[in-house]
Amino acid sequence: MDVKEMKQRLLDLETTFSEKETVLTDLDRAIGDGDHGVNMLRGFKSLKDKIDDSSMASLFKTTGMALMSNIGGASGPLYGFSFVKMSNVVKDDIDNDNLKAVVTEFANAIAQRGKVQRNEKTMFDVVDRAREALENEETLTFEVLQQFATDTKVIEATKGRAAYFKKDSIGYVDPGAQSMVYILSALIGDDIK
Ligand code: ADP
Ligand code: MG
Repeated sequence: MDVKEMKQRLLDLETTFSEKETVLTDLDRAIGDGDHGVNMLRGFKSLKDKIDDSSMASLFKTTGMALMSNIGGASGPLYGFSFVKMSNVVKDDIDNDNLKAVVTEFANAIAQRGKVQRNEKTMFDVVDRAREALENEETLTFEVLQQFATDTKVIEATKGRAAYFKKDSIGYVDPGAQSMVYILSALIGDDIK
C-alpha cells in the first residue's frame, strides 16, 4: 500500500467513525462514561487539516500527533503514541513483511503506554492477537479482527474505567477493542463492514 492509498484510508476513517459513533458510544456507556464514539470521531475528523503526506513516516507521525491532541480520554494518548511509534518502522510501500513490523510496533506501543497485558479487556487484546496472527502467517480480515473484539465480552476488565465495573463488565465488548478493529482494518486494507 502506497502513501496515497494509506492517506485515503486514514481519512476515510472519519466516515467510519461517524457511522460507528453510536455503536462505540453504546459500548462505552455500558462499561465506561459513554464518550468513546465522540472521542474517536473528533480525532479522525481532525486529520484532514493536520496530516503531511510527503512520506509514509510523516503521514503516520502527523496522524499520531493529531490523534494525540484531538481524541482525548484514555484512548487518545494510546492511539496517538502508537502512530508516532509506527512512523519509525513504516516503509513508503507497506508490503506484507512491513505490515507485520507495523502491527508489532502498534502492539508494543499500546503495551508500553498502557502498561497492559492480554485478557485485561482493552484494545490491546485485538492488536496483540492481530500481531500474533500475522506472525503465524494467518490471513487477517475484518471478520477475524471483529471476532477478536467480540471475544473481549467474556473478560472481566482490569484496566481503565471499565475496571471499576469489576464482574459487571463481563458480557460487553470493550469499546477500545471495537475501535481498534476499524483502525486495523484500514491499515491491513480490508473494507470496514
Ligand atoms: P476514557 O476511558 O478516558 O473515557 P475512552 O472511552 O476514549 O477513554 O477509551 C476507553 C478505551 O481505552 C477502553 O475501552 C480500553 O480499550 C482503552 N484503555 C483504557 N485504559 C487502557 C490501558 N491502560 N491500556 C490499554 N487500553 C486502555
Ligand atoms: Mg470513555
